[in-house]
Amino acid sequence: ENESTVSITVVGASGDLAKKKIFPALFALYYEGCLPEHFTICGYARSKMTDAELRNMVSRTLTCRIDKRQVWPFLLLNCDEKMEQFLNRCFYHSGQYDSEKNFSDLDKKLKQHEGGRVCNRLFYLSIPPNIFIDAVKCASMSASSGNGWTRVIVEKPFGRDSESSAALTKSLKQYLAEDQIFRIDHYLGKELVENLSVLRFSNLIFEPLWSRQYIRNVQLIFSEDFGTEGRGGYFDNYGIIRDIMQNHLLQILALFAMETPVSLDAEDIRNEKVKVLRSMRPLQLEDVVVGQYKSHTKGGVTYPAYTDDKTVPKDSLTPTFAAAALFINNARWDGVPFLMKAGKALHTKSAEIRVQFRHVPGNLYNRNFGTDLDRATNELVIRVQPDEAIYLKINNKVPGLGMRLDRSNLNLHYAARYSKEIPDAYERLLLDAIEGERRLFIRSDELDAAWSLFTPLLKELEEKKIIPEYYPYGSRGPVGAHYLAARYKVRWGDISLEQ
Ligand code: NAP
Repeated sequence: ENESTVSITVVGASGDLAKKKIFPALFALYYEGCLPEHFTICGYARSKMTDAELRNMVSRTLTCRIDKRQVWPFLLLNCDEKMEQFLNRCFYHSGQYDSEKNFSDLDKKLKQHEGGRVCNRLFYLSIPPNIFIDAVKCASMSASSGNGWTRVIVEKPFGRDSESSAALTKSLKQYLAEDQIFRIDHYLGKELVENLSVLRFSNLIFEPLWSRQYIRNVQLIFSEDFGTEGRGGYFDNYGIIRDIMQNHLLQILALFAMETPVSLDAEDIRNEKVKVLRSMRPLQLEDVVVGQYKSHTKGGVTYPAYTDDKTVPKDSLTPTFAAAALFINNARWDGVPFLMKAGKALHTKSAEIRVQFRHVPGNLYNRNFGTDLDRATNELVIRVQPDEAIYLKINNKVPGLGMRLDRSNLNLHYAARYSKEIPDAYERLLLDAIEGERRLFIRSDELDAAWSLFTPLLKELEEKKIIPEYYPYGSRGPVGAHYLAARYKVRWGDISLEQ
């Protein structure tokens, strides 16, 4: 039989990401009928586990996609069956990450399941970065496909600066070609981030406004309402700038600001993203504010400081918050501040893009706004998470005999508009990797360009031992972020500040 089959090996299957994200995403794809007819899923890690133990572990995190239009008892029945079928196709293989012998045993096991078909192999590296290369080497030497494709998904961190990232790419390329490497940035798999280009390029009313002529500033905001909570060991070596800004927020910025690509092909889109990144000037220390959360007591509860985390050194200066102003030196965006803000242990949990438009010149209604003209400008908000939405703030006449204006939202609220649950980002990305669609993965020149923007700043912060501004757990973050924005005549438009 000459049909092809896909074998997906989750390397590091005993870990957190595998349990929480990868297996549930694979099940969701199976449930939706998106996986090929013949497929095998194999967990690989050092931990000793039987197939049954892996299945038991995985089964605890699988959930069924709820389509609100369907009657749920029927759905659940169907879902249990599907879970059973899915779990029966999951296997486990225990081995070391640096043992070619162990990987060649894995190869034998996969071959049994592949039953002589053309076999395509996908390896998902869900392991700490210090063992990436060992695992890639062994997988490519001893367990790659002989007659189909072999692809490897790699998770961040892709190094911690330009040099280490280039070294990682160089090592990966000893064993893999660029088109076999799928660098994941799960933000690119988020529904609203994917929609950014649709919004912009398929609606007449946005693209003509998408430039310095009409846009005053753009804000990219990420906040979490919890700290590292005992898992700061990994984080402390990276900090929020590497963890969120250099990748997730910068990727969104590039998609937001790029020129129209020639087509929707992966290479065309990534070419445009690289162009934007290369038009930006590296971050300057004076355009950045760093912060770290400190302990705070509220309503009788004491929330810990970052350095209370047992896995974090007591004298750590690692930023858990950062705000930055970035600029794109091209004809479209000259002088427009792109402000980023990312932080842990803040008062809210969200990720959003805010576009503040310019004032209406000679506005007939200026006197209705008093002195605060900023409040009267249009703002487009794309809320990536939670509670996905796109809304546009417009000025509107309050109904009545007088002439009173207020700001109201033209609101596209996803939960109200679309009855289906939104797929997790990992589902989209895994499906794309299986199908060989590279649009949402980071190419190596893109990664280089992203690191060159942040590396000088990161070095300076570390060399000068810049003390972060301390902010209370659960607060809005350091006040320095407001001064930074004010320097560029920007007011942060956080969700919490909205009426
Ligand atoms: P993890 O739980 O720390 O590690 C995954 C597995 O790797 C472990 O179960 C362990 O399996 C093995 N492992 C851990 N430390 C090791 C070491 N020092 N030497 C050799 N093997 C080791 O990691 P994770 O949270 O699942 O994340 C996986 C990868 O994705 C990491 O590279 C992480 O940076 C990245 N990532 C994670 C998240 C997340 O939400 N967790 C988000 C973004 C990126 P065995 O002991 O059984 O071999």
